[in-house]
Amino acid sequence: MDMAPYRARLAQELVTLAVESAAAKEALAPVALDPQSVGRLSRMDAIQVQAMAQETERRRQARATALRAALKRIEDATFGSCLACGEDIAAKRLEFDPAIATCIDCAGRAS
Ligand SMILES: [Zn+2]
Repeated sequence: MDMAPYRARLAQELVTLAVESAAAKEALAPVALDPQSVGRLSRMDAIQVQAMAQETERRRQARATALRAALKRIEDATFGSCLACGEDIAAKRLEFDPAIATCIDCAGRAS
């Protein structure tokens, strides 16, 4: 099994996530109490926008963790084996998402 394309995809996605995280920094900053702001509603809007940004960032971090784990599995030569049962993960599944760590059976059982 040629790991290079998978490794490249995983690494590339990590870079993309890092760039997105950096770009989102501003939205994640604490909501300022701007005396010029139009009042309570706009502040609530700002808080809501921030909450969404935090949720997006949380998902990015979770995804980054999964990507790093997959890269580690490549290093450990366990990539492509289901973490739960040890069976081979279908190539199509890995093609779809190289960070997937379980076979279709175990994924189905988990959800
Ligand atoms: Zn399995």
